[in-house]
Amino acid sequence: MPSIFSRIIAGEIPSYKVAEDENNYAFLDINPLRPGHVLVVPKHETDYIFDLTDEEYASLTLFAKRVAEAVKCAVTCKRVGVAVLGMEVPHAHIHLVPLNAESDLNFFGEHAKVEAEEMQRIADAIASHMTENHPELF
Ligand code: 5GP
Repeated sequence: MPSIFSRIIAGEIPSYKVAEDENNYAFLDINPLRPGHVLVVPKHETDYIFDLTDEEYASLTLFAKRVAEAVKCAVTCKRVGVAVLGMEVPHAHIHLVPLNAESDLNFFGEHAKVEAEEMQRIADAIASHMTENHPELF
């Protein structure tokens, strides 16, 4: 059975996509900690991030850096925080979360409530910065 993220990448399940390259895919987390919370996922389905090949890991983290830059441009925040958990979905992924305080990166705290329209607006804003800064990725 493909993971839910493989099904999102294949377009079988909708997502608020923000960026894609040959090896990786980025989209908004459906239950964001903060508005603009993005998941960055390798297309080659691997459960544990440190089981990726060196090439896949390097590709994923460099892609995540570019997405984080676009998130910083699109969402008002002091920094973009990074987390890797993988306790829920067995498909390696990096969380990118816009931060204004340390407490914004609390997976046990209250999550943001972001309406569908706002999710789409944020995804479009991040995607537009990605297209502007890295047109080769699309
Ligand atoms: P983790 O595996 O890192 O503990 O958490 C998985 C993350 O994936 C959670 O933040 C959860 O909200 C997100 N997630 C789970 N299912 C979906 C989905 O179908 N679509 C999207 N966009 N995010 C999901």
